[in-house]
Amino acid sequence: MNSTEHRALREQLGAFALGHLPPAERTGLQAHLDGCPDCRAELASIAALAEPLRLADPDRVGAEPAAPPAWLEQSILAAVRTEPRRRRTVGRRMLAAAAVLVIGAGGVALGYESAPRPPHIPLEPVAVAASAPGLRSSADVVPHTWGMEIKLTATGFTTGRTYRVVVVTTDGRTAPAGEFIGIGEREMHCNLNSSVLRPDARQFRVLDPSGRSVVTGTL
Ligand SMILES: [Zn+2]
Repeated sequence: MNSTEHRALREQLGAFALGHLPPAERTGLQAHLDGCPDCRAELASIAALAEPLRLADPDRVGAEPAAPPAWLEQSILAAVRTEPRRRRTVGRRMLAAAAVLVIGAGGVALGYESAPRPPHIPLEPVAVAASAPGLRSSADVVPHTWGMEIKLTATGFTTGRTYRVVVVTTDGRTAPAGEFIGIGEREMHCNLNSSVLRPDARQFRVLDPSGRSVVTGTL
């Protein structure tokens, strides 16, 4: 694959993340993603933006309309430019759909004009206790309709080690909330998702590779 073909694939990532890519392109791009770590990384960063756009709450719409995020518009326009004529209508439709989506998100999307950042969401600070030396962490949780998100900020998790996060429910059940790899003294910001609804959650724990709890967040 030459660099032009590769760039064309990359430019489809925005539409792919929003689920707007026609099935044939979707399959082709998926096959490429399987073999291309660069595009997977790019998709991960785009998906992080696409998800809050989909979840944007119309009640939080601000007074001013917003433009689509620059990456999305660029991605779609670039795709339209490089596609044969037949596809242009589809491209325009995608751009229009994106604009409607973003205007629907209103004030939430304004943040994307300067820099990608998550929309305003209700954060609940959590009391966090770390039980390993050198570990400093703080956390907020976000109650979602589909479960609870834990936004963990920390330094001191051993570099290269895999840590598992679980949520303990009020009835004593333990549910998974994802994993991350320690990056030592650098500060990490990690969003962890669980299927436990906020009212049913009592605690979250970060477990080291031996299963020992090294951080406990009390909800
Ligand atoms: Zn690629």
